[in-house]
Amino acid sequence: MAQLSDDCFAFGGPMMSVAEAVCLIAARVRQVGDVETVALEAADGRILARDLAAPLPLPPFTNSAVDGYAVSGSDLPREQECVLPVAGRVQAGRLAQAATPGHAVRIFTGAPMPEGTDTVFMQEDVRIDDAGRVVLPAGLRPGANVRPAGEDIPQAHVALKAGHRLRPQDVALAAAFGLTRLDVIRPIRVAVFSTGDELASPGDARAAPQLFDSNRFMLMAMLKRLGCAVSDLGILRDERTALANGLRQVASSHDLMLTTGGVSTGEEDHVKASVESVGTLVLWRMAIKPGRPVAMGVIGGTPFIGLPGNPVASFVTFVHVVRPTVLALSGAHASPVVPMPVRAGFTYKKKSGRREYVRAFLRMREDGALEAIKFPREGAGLLSSLVETDGLVELGESVTRVEPGETVGFLGYASLL
Ligand code: AMP
Ligand code: MG
Repeated sequence: MAQLSDDCFAFGGPMMSVAEAVCLIAARVRQVGDVETVALEAADGRILARDLAAPLPLPPFTNSAVDGYAVSGSDLPREQECVLPVAGRVQAGRLAQAATPGHAVRIFTGAPMPEGTDTVFMQEDVRIDDAGRVVLPAGLRPGANVRPAGEDIPQAHVALKAGHRLRPQDVALAAAFGLTRLDVIRPIRVAVFSTGDELASPGDARAAPQLFDSNRFMLMAMLKRLGCAVSDLGILRDERTALANGLRQVASSHDLMLTTGGVSTGEEDHVKASVESVGTLVLWRMAIKPGRPVAMGVIGGTPFIGLPGNPVASFVTFVHVVRPTVLALSGAHASPVVPMPVRAGFTYKKKSGRREYVRAFLRMREDGALEAIKFPREGAGLLSSLVETDGLVELGESVTRVEPGETVGFLGYASLL
């Protein structure tokens, strides 16, 4: 069972930077070791459990990269064109006969190189004379247009490392090795709760002062993109024992518990006290906007994260706290999210000492440069601001002002999940 150390006061402190939070998570969250085997068809998005060494070289045999004529390097014309009779023909999927010395062999893309040949002339570069011989131009480098065995990946080379999140091209590599199954880390089991008396589940009746719970569905979708097995645990009322009981009941059957809402310090924010009554907790005041209050703790050995209730704050803190936690639990290499440099198409003022994320769309300028246009409104409750934009402009702790035309870092939503 994955565990966060119970001594989680190390998570405390007055105002924690995003970088500190990520370091603490990486240092303290222990990997779920359980491995399962999946068919290649189901391997996309999974985390590889063991290093994968090439069981055979790729390509497995030396072959022609083009349609043309295979010759021996010693027959290559150096100064002026030369003429060779053609003997033999080899196509992809067939065994090649050894070449007759002083002859060219008709060959096709992917066909094995006949013994005695090492160079292929593209058919477009030669002509056939009246006697059916091939006329070869001078100047071709020996070894041209040949794909040597192992040039892509040598046998025994570690082609994929444990902790790698498999993508379609990685699945292709496993297939090229002839594998049918891969050992992967089992999905991380995450329990998701919303909290708040003002919330109604979509499908249920909504009283006039209520709104439909949207965060739970956003968070569950984000978790699924990270490969988690998600338990939808509905809405907990703003009441300390209900929250405490709800969390305690699911702790032992999950690797991570996630709530949204109720982590500020208002009178109706009960998450902090309820977690403290059944486990240990610290409230992080993260130096991040939107975001700020994030709770992190341990209940019965299972990590707990309480995200803020405002949808945009919930989204942004998910990326910086939940994503690294899920990656650490699954032993995945935390691929750093690298912002793409774009031009700012807006003016912005901010406080130094905290990181801010500005919701923005991308637009191609007339000079071909990409420009980030800020969403016109800033509220952390505006779902439209997430729906209508392409990603987040990241403004570092030291930035206090952004002027149009400056280079800023842009994180596309697709790169964050
Ligand atoms: P809280 O963090 O509980 O004080 O909530 C902050 C704001 O976010 C309030 O306006 C809540 O109504 C809203 N909110 C909280 N939880 C959700 C949710 N699950 N879906 C949509 N909005 C929410
Ligand atoms: Mg609330």
